[in-house]
Amino acid sequence: MTPAAYVHLDLDAARHNLAQVKRYAPNNRIMAVIKANGYGHGMDRVAAALAEADGFAVARVDEGVRLREAGFTQAITVLQGFVCLDELRLMVRHKLAAVIHTPQQIGILRQLAPESEKLPVWLKMDTGMNRLGFKGGDFLAAYQALADCVAVAQPINLITHFANADDLLDDKTRRQIDVFNHAVKDFPGQRSIANSAGIIGWPNVSSNSAQVRGGDWVRPGLMLYGCSPFAGKTGADFGLRPVMSLHSRLIAVKYVAAGESVGYSGTWTCRQPTRLGVVSIGYGDGYHRHTQSGAPVLVNGRRVSLIGRVSMDMITVDLNSQPDAQPGDPVTLWGEALPVEEIARHADTIPYTLLCGITQRVQVIERSPAETFVSATTMAG
Ligand SMILES: *Cc1c(COP(=O)(O)O)cnc(C)c1O
Repeated sequence: MTPAAYVHLDLDAARHNLAQVKRYAPNNRIMAVIKANGYGHGMDRVAAALAEADGFAVARVDEGVRLREAGFTQAITVLQGFVCLDELRLMVRHKLAAVIHTPQQIGILRQLAPESEKLPVWLKMDTGMNRLGFKGGDFLAAYQALADCVAVAQPINLITHFANADDLLDDKTRRQIDVFNHAVKDFPGQRSIANSAGIIGWPNVSSNSAQVRGGDWVRPGLMLYGCSPFAGKTGADFGLRPVMSLHSRLIAVKYVAAGESVGYSGTWTCRQPTRLGVVSIGYGDGYHRHTQSGAPVLVNGRRVSLIGRVSMDMITVDLNSQPDAQPGDPVTLWGEALPVEEIARHADTIPYTLLCGITQRVQVIERSPAETFVSATTMAG
C-alpha cells in the first residue's frame, strides 16, 4: 500500500541535472544551492546525492552547521553570512565560508581572536538587485577592510547576484555583469555570479570567456531539481529531469448535479452532471491553495481538471472523462508527466514555492513508486 500523500524523489535525476550544469558551465566549479531544506527535497538527502559538486551553498548558518554535523566535508558557503559574533564563531568552528555584505559584519570580524582560524569570505557586490551587498566606493572600502583583517582568509572572493536573469530580453543582467567585472578586474579572488537562469541564459557569465576567468563558481539551485527558471518553459526544454513528483490517490467518487456548486465558498458550479473525484491532497501537504480550477491533475496517468477550492486535506477533480475511476486509484499532482512549472502557472506562483512548500506529513519515497519502498524519513530529513 502506498501512503496517502507522498513525494517520490528521483535522486538519479538530481545527479543527471548536476551533469547538465557541468555541460552548461564546463569551466566552472559548482556550488550546489541546497538552502530551504534542499528546495523542499531534504537537504541532507540532496547533499548526499550531489556529493560530486565542488561545494554547497546554504542561506543560513544553522543550515551549514547541520550539513557539517551530518558529516559533509565539502566547501560550504553561507549566503547570508553571520549577524553576530556567536554566529561567526560557529562558522569558524564548522569551517563555513561567509558572504560579507554589511559593514557590521566587518566590525564583528575584527572582534574575532587573532589566533582563531581564518574565515573564507565572499565579498558581495550589489550590482542592482538592491538586496544584499555593497555598491561602488563602499564595496572598495569593504574590500580593503577585509584585506587588512587578520581573521579573514586571503584572497577575498567576490560574489554578486542577478535580479532579472530569467528575462533574456532585460539588459539589466548585462549591466550587472559589466559593473561587477569592472569593479573586481584587478582583484585576485575567485568570482561567483550565476544562478540557474544565469547559467542557462547568460552563458558568457559562466563559461571561461574573456569576461570571467576559469575556475570561478556557478551557483545553481532550481535547475538541480529539474526545473526551468524561465517562464513558459520546463526543465525538459533544457535537458533537465524533475527530481520530485507529488502523488496521492482518489478517496471518493460521486455524482454532482448540474447547477450544484463544489467545495468551500462554492467557487465552482457544475455546468453539467459531474462525476466528481476527491483526492487526498491539500494545502496541508503543500498543494498550493491558490491553484485555480482548471489546473491539470493526473488520475490513472490521464489529465483531468481541478475544480473548486483547494482544502487543507483534499481537492476535487472532474472525472467525466474517466467513468471507471475508483477510490484508491493513483493521482499525480506534479512530476515527469505533469511539470511543476505548469502547476505553478495555474497557482499564480513559481516552481520554487511549490517545491519548498511540501510539508512534514508528506511521506518520502526515494526509489521508484513501483518498488513501494517508503523511507522512514519525512521531509525534515
Ligand atoms: C538561491 C540562490 C541561488 C540559486 O538560485 P536558483 O535560481 O535557484 O538557481 C544562487 N545565489 C544566491 C545568492 C541565492 O540566494
